[in-house]
Amino acid sequence: MQVHDGIVAAIGNTPLIKLRRASEATGCTILGKAEFMNPGQSVKDRAALFIIEDAVARGDLKPGGVIVEGTAGNTGIGLTMVARALGFRTVIVIPETQSQEKKDTLRAYGAELVEVPAVPYANPNNYVKVSGRLAAELAEREPNGAVWANQFDNTANRNGHIRTTGPEIWEQTGGRIDGFVSAVGTGGTLAGIAMALKARRKDITIALADPPGAALYSFYTTGVLKAEGSSITEGIGQGRITKNLDGAPIDVAFQIPDGEAVGMVFDLIAHEGLCLGGSSGVNVAGAIRLARELGPGKTIVTILCDYGTRYQSRLFNPEFLRSKNLPVPEWLIRPPRQDI
Ligand code: PMP
Repeated sequence: MQVHDGIVAAIGNTPLIKLRRASEATGCTILGKAEFMNPGQSVKDRAALFIIEDAVARGDLKPGGVIVEGTAGNTGIGLTMVARALGFRTVIVIPETQSQEKKDTLRAYGAELVEVPAVPYANPNNYVKVSGRLAAELAEREPNGAVWANQFDNTANRNGHIRTTGPEIWEQTGGRIDGFVSAVGTGGTLAGIAMALKARRKDITIALADPPGAALYSFYTTGVLKAEGSSITEGIGQGRITKNLDGAPIDVAFQIPDGEAVGMVFDLIAHEGLCLGGSSGVNVAGAIRLARELGPGKTIVTILCDYGTRYQSRLFNPEFLRSKNLPVPEWLIRPPRQDI
C-alpha cells in the first residue's frame, strides 16, 4: 500500500514543472517548483509543519495548545491545517487588506481570526507585533498553553527549506542547476533553499525578485534598506532583514513592477494552464531576468507559491485591474458567445 499517515505526511515532495514558454523565450531551462500543490495549497505548509514540530520538540507546544501567528494568510492556513491534524488550535492575526479568499479559507479551517489594520512594522499595532503580544497573553490564560509561531524570526521556518525544498530541487534537477530565484515574505523560502543549494554547488547564482514597496532590492543593490512604491502582490515584500533572511547568500536582485508580474500570471494561464498568485508572477518574471543575465543554456529554478484562485476578487477582476493600471486578459472581458 502507498498511504500517507495523515495529511501532514503529504506536505512537500512537490513536482518540478518546466515552464516551456519562458524557457523558449530565453534559451534556458526555467523550472517552477509546484508548491501550490501542497495540501494547504501554498509554499507555507512546509514552514508551518517545521515550526510546529520544533515547538513540540522543545516542549513549548502541548496537546490541545494554541498556536498564535501574524500572517498574510498562507502561513495561517498551513498552521491551521497542521494544527487540526495534530490536535492543536490556532489564533491568526491578519491585516485586513489581505484577500477575502484567504480569510474565508482560514475561517473554513476553523482558525480564530483577528483582523487588524495594515500598519508598518515599526507601529506597535502591526499584525506581527499584535500576534506576539497575544501569544504571551494566551500562554498565561489558555489551559493547554500557547506559543507564538513567529515565522519571520523563527528559523525553524528556513530550516524546513534547508532540510526539504532545497534538497528536493537538487535531486529533481540531478544537480544540474545554475540559478535559483525567489521573492521574500519572511525570507524562509529564499534563504533556506539558497543555503541548501550553495552547500552543494558554490557557484550557483541566487537571485532575489522583489516587488515595489519592499526594501530588499535596495538593500541587496546599495546596502540601504529603502522602500518605494507599492504592490498588489500578497505574502511578499519585506522591509527588514528578518532572522530567516539573515546571512542568505544572495548574489543579484531584481525589482519586478506589478505590470510585469501580473502580465506573467496571465501568460502562465494562457500558455501553461497554470493559474497562480501574484508572487508566482514575480518569481517567474525574476527567473526570466536571471536567465537573460546568465545567458542561454542554463537551468534556473523558481517557486510557484500558490493558486491564483486565492486572489480571485482582485487578480481576475477587470475593474480592479483597470483601477491599478494593470493588464486585463481578453478572456476576462470577452462577450458571451452568441452562436451556440
Ligand atoms: N508567496 C506567497 C503567496 C506567500 O504567502 C509567501 C509567504 N508569506 C511567500 C510567497 C514568501 O515566502 P517566504 O515567507 O518563505 O519568504
